[in-house]
Amino acid sequence: MSGPNTNYDPVEVAALEPAAVQAAVDAALAAIAAASSLDELKAARTAHQGEKSPLALANREIGALPPSAKAEAGKRVGQARGRVGQALAARQAELEAERDERILVEERVDVTVPALRRRLGARHPIELVAQRLVDSFVGMGWEVAEGPELEAEWLNFDALNLGPDHPARQMQDTFFLDPVDSGLVLRTHTSPVQIRTMLEKEPPIYIVAPGKVFRTDDLDATHTPVFHQIECLAVDKGLTMAHLRGAIDAFVQIMFGEGTRTRVRASYFPFTEPSMETDFVCFACHGSGSTTPGSAAQCRTCGGSGWIELGGSGMVNRKVLAACGIDPDVYSGFAFGLGIERALMLRHGVQGMHEMVEGDVRFSQQFGMEV
Ligand SMILES: [Zn+2]
Repeated sequence: MSGPNTNYDPVEVAALEPAAVQAAVDAALAAIAAASSLDELKAARTAHQGEKSPLALANREIGALPPSAKAEAGKRVGQARGRVGQALAARQAELEAERDERILVEERVDVTVPALRRRLGARHPIELVAQRLVDSFVGMGWEVAEGPELEAEWLNFDALNLGPDHPARQMQDTFFLDPVDSGLVLRTHTSPVQIRTMLEKEPPIYIVAPGKVFRTDDLDATHTPVFHQIECLAVDKGLTMAHLRGAIDAFVQIMFGEGTRTRVRASYFPFTEPSMETDFVCFACHGSGSTTPGSAAQCRTCGGSGWIELGGSGMVNRKVLAACGIDPDVYSGFAFGLGIERALMLRHGVQGMHEMVEGDVRFSQQFGMEV
């Protein structure tokens, strides 16, 4: 690069030769045509039109030419720069148009397309009923206890005073795991959770245990091989049948409404002594046994008896307490439970087990988020 002078060096101003200028223009046009994006075009602009581009350097050399040569060289370089500038502007316009077209296509919103609507799910009513009962007992200070569905045979039967000859241990009731001498079963009730709790914790114990249980029944209107129970267990000093009845009354009123009366009948369960069955007044006919007062038509909910069977209960058998390391001379306990499917059938008039196990969301949606 040189300032104006009269003794120019032909080598220094070689960039002004027609062939060199043409080569710079050709290179610029090729790069501009090859630019396939605005970013690439920007790079081509810097390389061929920027301060360090061959044509800009050539332009600066014009000053070094003798006055007689300046006009011709200036015209040559000026035309070359003009052609490059035009090519850049034209390609810029093309690429911008392409970009705008692409954005219009990519960001197109077809307001006539139907909205994608996914059917909302719903919590299963079995879960809702269980949660309602659990919440109520937690509100009274009870704790939730859970146990495994695959259970040790000893916890499922022996510890609950269900001896080896008890009918519940027969193969037709229980899912045993291969090999049979593994001593594992799919739990047939939630009662082993009581045993686990008593083995792990010192009294006082107040637990509510909801969960899945398994029996080898075929699915029909009133049976299902997998169903749900909820059991309550209390172990403390001085607990009596009066406390048991109070707890059951609270349970029933949560489930079937305030003021629902109960009655008890003597019964037998291996793990409670004494044992009883609890009935509660039919919520449909309020104990009259008839749907319309004074008529002979039997209430369908209770079969005309005016009472509905709730489930078994009793004072925890001394043998069960002792098996769990709790001194039955110091502590006493009571337990009660019910099948959640049965409660749901009663409370909402669900006709059969099929509806509850088939998983059709339309069934669950009827119950909303609260039952
Ligand atoms: Zn009734």
